[in-house]
Amino acid sequence: MSVRSFVTIMLARTELRTPQKRACECCSRYEVWDTDDGFWKIATDDNERLTGNPHCIHEWDIDGTFRPFE
Ligand SMILES: [Zn+2]
Repeated sequence: MSVRSFVTIMLARTELRTPQKRACECCSRYEVWDTDDGFWKIATDDNERLTGNPHCIHEWDIDGTFRPFE
């Protein structure tokens, strides 16, 4: 097994374990990926929905989804 394919497998396992989430860099909208339903859901914090600015076009800072190789 090459090092590259080994790393790819490790990343795939990490992504299965780790919930996908994304936050907007412009407002405070925060979403989590629902793997069962297959779409983004607005995250909540202490029952407050982190909807951010409804007029924002949202510049997503995605955590854990994109891990491009150099
Ligand atoms: Zn936004």
